[in-house]
Amino acid sequence: MVIQLSKEKLGFEHLEANVIVSGKCCSCGSCEAACPIGAIELQNLQPTLVKDCTKCEFCWKSCPRMIDDYSPIYAQVFGEEAQRDPALGVYRHAYALRNADESIRKRAQDGGVVTAILVHLLESGVIEGAVISGVDPNEPWKPKPMVATTRKEIISATKSRYTRSPNLIALKEALKERKLKQIAVVGTPCHIQAIQRMRLAPLKKVDRSVVMTIGLFCSETFKFKELMEDKIVGELNVPLENLRKLDIKGKLLVYPRGAKESLKIPLSEAQDWIDPGCHGCKDFASDFADISVGGAGTPGKWSSVLARSERGQVVLEEMINAGIFLYEELPEESLERLRKIAAPKISS
Ligand SMILES: Cc1cc2nc3c(=O)[nH]c(=O)nc-3n(C[C@H](O)[C@H](O)[C@H](O)COP(=O)(O)OP(=O)(O)OC[C@H]3O[C@@H](n4cnc5c(N)ncnc54)[C@H](O)[C@@H]3O)c2cc1C
Ligand code: SF4
Ligand code: SF4
Ligand code: SF4
Repeated sequence: MVIQLSKEKLGFEHLEANVIVSGKCCSCGSCEAACPIGAIELQNLQPTLVKDCTKCEFCWKSCPRMIDDYSPIYAQVFGEEAQRDPALGVYRHAYALRNADESIRKRAQDGGVVTAILVHLLESGVIEGAVISGVDPNEPWKPKPMVATTRKEIISATKSRYTRSPNLIALKEALKERKLKQIAVVGTPCHIQAIQRMRLAPLKKVDRSVVMTIGLFCSETFKFKELMEDKIVGELNVPLENLRKLDIKGKLLVYPRGAKESLKIPLSEAQDWIDPGCHGCKDFASDFADISVGGAGTPGKWSSVLARSERGQVVLEEMINAGIFLYEELPEESLERLRKIAAPKISS
């Protein structure tokens, strides 16, 4: 925890000194979304002050990297009584799920669970839109935060881009420009931590409007230039327009379109391309989401899914009962595997 010694209000300089200059920024976009006067913009993924700061304190109070110890927040989010798994956080139920719609599953990263939940929430009127990570139409595989308000837009964002996406910039658009009042947010654990930080700041509009958070499991993200341009395009000779899928299963797996086999990059080689903002991150399983989803622990085209909040569990059960998901219990061996994957992050 960064201690504030003086009673004087602290502004952007506090965030800059403690997070940005010290290399801890994970480019989540929360500070840009939180600033009420639009004084922060992420430029080349770096938060930059673009007008005078009025020291309202919301940016640094909303930043997930201003605190290292999240343990007090579990009780605030899930209640004092909630049982917490040391590696996987608080959850009510663990499922193995896959989207019953094969056409979506084929396009998805794993079981197409994230896409199914968003489409279901939209079509049942629970949300007006979702803050997600799409793809820049002019730059293949470059993540682009977006507000999706149609089934088509949600489906356009399937698959994982393992490089930075400042998703919460799109929360600013959803709230301030589109004036949406019921929003789902998808993101890596740092995005979901940021939503909780915003709720507690307190940013009341975020607290009221974000009605569902879907967190992804996450070990790390990579720098776009080093992974996508230098390695995949430069060395492996796969133009990004011809890249069908990237995956991480013990190795980085690169699937060119039309190829039967993946090209493999050892994770030891990829260590140098890890984004510096990921170092020291201790959350693997998106501990503060309503629903957490990942590929580890289940076979291909299934997802491991943790229902954490009551509202998250209600939605999943509703979807299982409606036949939207194929469903199995997540076995204890899978949970054990997830705990082992999470362990190095937690002890980092
Ligand atoms: C950077 C990153 C690292 C991950 N690391 C792991 C891991 O170590 N172990 C593991 O089990 N799972 C990991 N995952 C999660 C996994 O890759 C899948 O996202 C998850 O299983 C959901 O699959 P799905 O088929 O349900 O998703 P889909 O239905 O295909 O939907 C994917 C969703 O992911 C979002 N998305 C894509 N790229 C990004 C991004 N860069 N940042 C934020 N959101 C994004 C999109 O908004 C989309 O809605 C990681 C995901 C990301 C993005
Ligand atoms: S959020 Fe408040 S403290 Fe931060 S830059 Fe904007 S005005 Fe300054
Ligand atoms: S981690 Fe997020 S909130 Fe913190 S400085 Fe970076 S972009 Fe802003
Ligand atoms: S490891 Fe994942 S959750 Fe942690 S900072 Fe990096 S992208 Fe965010």
